[in-house]
Amino acid sequence: METTKPAPASSGNFIKQIVIDDLKTGKVSEVVTRFPPEPNGYLHIGHAKSICLNFELADEFGGRTHLRFDDTNPVKEDTEYVQSIQEDVKWLGFEWEKLFFASDFFEEMYERALVLIKKGKAYVCDLTAEQIRETRGTLTAPGEDSPYRNRSVEENLDLFERMRKGEFANGEKVLRAKIDMASPNVNLRDPVLYRIAHATHHNTGDKWCIYPMYDYAHPLEDAIEGITHSICTLEFADHRPLYDWVIRECEMACVPQQYEFGRLNVTNTVMSKRKLKLLVDEQVVDGWDDPRMPTISGLRRKGYTPEAIREFCREIGVVKSNNSTVDEKLLEHFIREDLKLKAPRTMAVLQPLKVVITNYPEGQVEQLDAEINPENEAMGIRQIPFSREIYIEQDDFMEEPVKGYHRLYPGNEVRLKHAYFIKCEDVVKDADGRVVELHCTYDPETKSGSGFTGRKVKGTLHWVEASQAKPAEFRLYEPLILDESAGESDDFLSNLNPNSLQTLQGFVEENMNGAEAQDKFQFFRHGYFNVDSKHSGAEKLVFNRIVSLKSSFDPKK
Ligand code: ATP
Ligand code: MG
Repeated sequence: METTKPAPASSGNFIKQIVIDDLKTGKVSEVVTRFPPEPNGYLHIGHAKSICLNFELADEFGGRTHLRFDDTNPVKEDTEYVQSIQEDVKWLGFEWEKLFFASDFFEEMYERALVLIKKGKAYVCDLTAEQIRETRGTLTAPGEDSPYRNRSVEENLDLFERMRKGEFANGEKVLRAKIDMASPNVNLRDPVLYRIAHATHHNTGDKWCIYPMYDYAHPLEDAIEGITHSICTLEFADHRPLYDWVIRECEMACVPQQYEFGRLNVTNTVMSKRKLKLLVDEQVVDGWDDPRMPTISGLRRKGYTPEAIREFCREIGVVKSNNSTVDEKLLEHFIREDLKLKAPRTMAVLQPLKVVITNYPEGQVEQLDAEINPENEAMGIRQIPFSREIYIEQDDFMEEPVKGYHRLYPGNEVRLKHAYFIKCEDVVKDADGRVVELHCTYDPETKSGSGFTGRKVKGTLHWVEASQAKPAEFRLYEPLILDESAGESDDFLSNLNPNSLQTLQGFVEENMNGAEAQDKFQFFRHGYFNVDSKHSGAEKLVFNRIVSLKSSFDPKK
């Protein structure tokens, strides 16, 4: 599959050019944008693109941005989602000027529908949803007029009022716009404006049993709030004539303009609330904020920072022409960049193997100096204990080394980061023949920082002093979906990666005792890790790997 190369950050975006022109010609005197999520799930990285676009556009021109819950569907919406969406937008670093619920405008929307009916621009139709679909025509054939299309204004007013009062069952009647059943744009073939849904709404309770459709509600919400630039994704481009029709025929004072941009997709994951909810409901993941999820809350729990996500959104740019699928490695690139100078470096052993240094004095513990971040000297130095017993990584030892293996094996000498050279002298095995302990010797002359140049070794290992080591759990992640683009299909559940989570029990340096939820570190040779906000505690630290150290991805290529 082709993934889209990111647009250079300097190229700006085409919507920004429209705003500049509109301000110059006086078409608008200020910029008002909105981010209008439907509260039917948690926000994902695709929404982040829309959030950054709307808020940054208004910010740049001294305008304002509203957060609006597009809550016109009573069945799928929930206050849990309303809460999480606000938290995520704030966490990304944005402040809305005003907060609205589309449902606050239901009364005005109803009044505007009466305006349409009185003008002969809307009618109550008794066709079923299926009949409406069947009479809609196709791209090449016109639709058929509904037998109810020519009801009188009086009859329509009466029926619509009775729809509101609850006299009819779900699906028995709808209100339709009277536009043109032969329009080449299928969206203009008498679209449904209101439907009946006897359901309790999270905000309005049981006050309403008729609910406006998106294509009717959205333009009115924009106009009522005084939005100047209404930015949405490409699939709404064909709805734009209907958007303009609603604003015009409902005689709204404010005339917002809709602009469309390409949706963001990321490889090896799913990007729709509906599909993400399925992963949660089927318990494929441990909730919406599972670190494998592309949700804002999942990325946060994994250890992403708002800065990295914002930079990512800037880099991918805003293109008009197509939806773009971006390689997830680009997202990883930005978190590495962000944490490079910020995250303290420490050592962690993920799969421990005990090493006894037989010539080191028993009972002695010395403190060694180690930089906290060699790329950022201002972070200073820390002290790490060293003694006769340490842990190293199991795969840093091979009893029978393969060619080119420079780490520990019987008779070989390696460097311990920040400490000494050690040499493997002996191997201890359990009854099954598994190596459970190594006996090594160390050379006091080779102490790190002593300027020792006597001889060289090829391997440098990380380690943790055993008596003070702090137990820790490490969670390593792989993409949720095996195939790059399988997340875009409805059959994505059959393409799940069985190894998306690997859990290991090991140790971290003793000085990480005070590590708190969401603290971020670079573990030498392993990558960047974040203290898990749900499961980490005083007795055992739990770390999520954010990203490994190296990437094959070069965004400049
Ligand atoms: P989903 O299918 O994930 O539910 P949606 O478009 O239905 O997405 P909304 O809650 O209606 O979600 O979206 C709020 C805003 O976020 C809309 O303006 C929408 O266009 C934008 N948005 C949603 N998904 C993406 C995406 N993948 N890339 C860019 N913008 C997106
Ligand atoms: Mg939606």
